[in-house]
Amino acid sequence: MLESIKSLARQYAADIVQTRRHLHAHPELSFHERNTAQFVAGQLKAIGITPQEGVADTGLVAVIEGRSPNSRIVGLRADMDALPIHEANDVPYKSTIDGVMHACGHDAHTASLLGVARILHVLRDQFDGTIKLVFQPGEEKAPGGASLMIKEGVLQNPAPVSMIGQHVAPNIPVGKIGFREGMYMASTDELYLTVRGKGGHAAMPDNLVDPVLIASHIIVALQQIISRNRPPASPSVLSFGRFIADGVTNVIPNEVTIQGTFRCMNEEWRAEGKRRMVKMAESMAEAMGGSCEFEIVHGYPYLQNHPELTRRLRAQAVDYMGVDNVVDLDLWMAGEDFAFYSQVVDSCFYRLGTRNEARGIVSGVHTPTFDIDESALETGAGLMSWLAVQELRAV
Ligand SMILES: [Zn+2]
Ligand SMILES: [Zn+2]
Repeated sequence: MLESIKSLARQYAADIVQTRRHLHAHPELSFHERNTAQFVAGQLKAIGITPQEGVADTGLVAVIEGRSPNSRIVGLRADMDALPIHEANDVPYKSTIDGVMHACGHDAHTASLLGVARILHVLRDQFDGTIKLVFQPGEEKAPGGASLMIKEGVLQNPAPVSMIGQHVAPNIPVGKIGFREGMYMASTDELYLTVRGKGGHAAMPDNLVDPVLIASHIIVALQQIISRNRPPASPSVLSFGRFIADGVTNVIPNEVTIQGTFRCMNEEWRAEGKRRMVKMAESMAEAMGGSCEFEIVHGYPYLQNHPELTRRLRAQAVDYMGVDNVVDLDLWMAGEDFAFYSQVVDSCFYRLGTRNEARGIVSGVHTPTFDIDESALETGAGLMSWLAVQELRAV
């Protein structure tokens, strides 16, 4: 099986690169992946697979049934959306849409999963069980395409025992793969505070309620929640990137607006932390004679890589790639909507090295110069196929 998969991946590699280039040149923003979905559907039909279209509007789900299809079901996920970034690369497959770019590698994920579909469709009489292919919209945008796909039943009928996802990694050299058991990526909640007081002449503070001072106290006090109430073993980040007090030297404004992000890797602490922050900000503002309106946009949960599943996949990756090419990942405080699957079903999200310093392919995701070493795509499709069939055999 290993050799069959490797040889098919090699055989299809050039086509997978072409698919990735097509997607790269025609990016679509989150939840607007109409042409992408149509393209994916067309590719699947050409392989001989009829997808279910229109799941969460622009998502697709398809199954590849092996022998005894109900014995075990494994789900594979790719995201399809691009970002509102203007591409700065001068490459033949440069984005043809001004201000929209596949700067997070979702073109590579989709092309790889189409490669997996082709490989496993050919090999379908050589494995037991069913592979469920999930092409989801809107990874980059709240509420996250994954959450909508789950609401529309993607984890049911048939219900996968595990979900596997991969993401390009511009910090990992091409040819290598990264895994991490347990906590991997953070929950992401957006915080919007409006602190209100009574503005006026800065020379007469006794007649005013100074929202700048209240807001400053709140910012400091909220960090205290992270240092004093957070379980010490639980990583958390609280950062405020916006603090607007629109006065001048001698004018105190009526209000201050603050925006920040709260990230962590524990759902109970996440809920508790937010509850404490709201209480702290509101009561502090009130104690100082003002008020604070605290809005939270609840984002993605934290991403938990199921330990046994991840250990199994890592061992299979070693068989496929060689021990030197499988690396351990650090915690990453960024968010990823694959986390929604990981909250429902045993899941593993691993990273596919796409960096090539010699060729200058080093830019991070979400930058206008992001690109991948496309030789990663053969691995992207081959390794994922191998992991999926091995996971069908796992007990
Ligand atoms: Zn991204
Ligand atoms: Zn991404």
